[in-house]
Amino acid sequence: MENVKDLVIIGGGPAGLTAAIYGIRAGMNLVLVEKFSPGGQVVNSYEIENYPGFAEPVAGWELMSRMEEQTRRLGTEIVNGDVTSIKKTGDIFYVEMDGAVIETKSVIVAAGASHRKLGVPGEKEYLGRGVSYCATCDGAFYKDRVTVVVGGGDVALEEAHFLTRFSSKVYLVHRRDSFRGADILQKRILSSDRIVPVYNSVVESVNGDDGVRSVSVKNLVTGEKGAINTDGVFVFIGYDPNTGFLDRGLLNGSKEVEVGMNMQTNLEGLFAAGDIRSGSKRQIVMACADGATAAMSAYDYLTELSCR
Ligand code: NAP
Repeated sequence: MENVKDLVIIGGGPAGLTAAIYGIRAGMNLVLVEKFSPGGQVVNSYEIENYPGFAEPVAGWELMSRMEEQTRRLGTEIVNGDVTSIKKTGDIFYVEMDGAVIETKSVIVAAGASHRKLGVPGEKEYLGRGVSYCATCDGAFYKDRVTVVVGGGDVALEEAHFLTRFSSKVYLVHRRDSFRGADILQKRILSSDRIVPVYNSVVESVNGDDGVRSVSVKNLVTGEKGAINTDGVFVFIGYDPNTGFLDRGLLNGSKEVEVGMNMQTNLEGLFAAGDIRSGSKRQIVMACADGATAAMSAYDYLTELSCR
């Protein structure tokens, strides 16, 4: 049993890193598995202004590198790996990744979510040649050029505002007659002379030659079709949970991991935290809280397991 971990955490975003901080401080023998590098979606945010403790906005990458540093300083082992399945036999979980298997008594799944795609012609073809899902990464390529942002939630509003640092004009295409994002963000958008809201409209295709040159849009109220000339299209229409490697019995109709109050799933010893779980509010501070809750629940479970 000495090779069997107490806990495997899958995902190195705010939820996974916080779970590791709580787990390691509780004396658990744990490992955190991350597909790329720790940080999660937050590293793509230009700045965060609602994470407590930072009086001034903090860059997404900075916040997450501080979390990673804290986690490593406490002694967390972080390994790179793409988890393909989790199986349980008796009280032991078998976490499969890249041809290797880690045996563990408990698991916290904190694998986050991925950008939702528009699914229109040209989107896939022009990825990296004008279509982007990250303004922080690609915004500077569009200095003095016209860009299009698709979406109406917090992320679309924040990123459209960020793009005004570079773009001469940002068309913000949203399928409704008002934005869904926070009031403070809406005020910023509506007071910017570089942002042009395009309401009640959807992008039907992304068009170009060696790069993007325009998007075709349709007004959902009038049925009118037209085109916006642009060099860059930024898509921010929400996220889908990264649950492809999980047993379907763990998921709800929205493909999120169904959890109870203490982040436990319907499989004893398996917990979920952050954007991957049902009812997530997709806030960094809440992902952290989920991670802490899941680690404490895993600790309680291990204590109970050792008494059996
Ligand atoms: P979101 O809040 O789910 O908004 C997605 C937007 O995209 C909605 O306006 C939606 O339109 C639109 N949309 C969805 N599918 C579409 C499609 N196929 N075609 C066109 N438009 C489509 O997603 P988000 O903005 O990515 O934010 C994700 C979560 O993170 C949210 O819970 C948000 O509050 C949170 N967040 C918070 C902050 C913050 O507090 N500062 C920052 C970033 C993110 P409808 O309105 O018509 O549904």
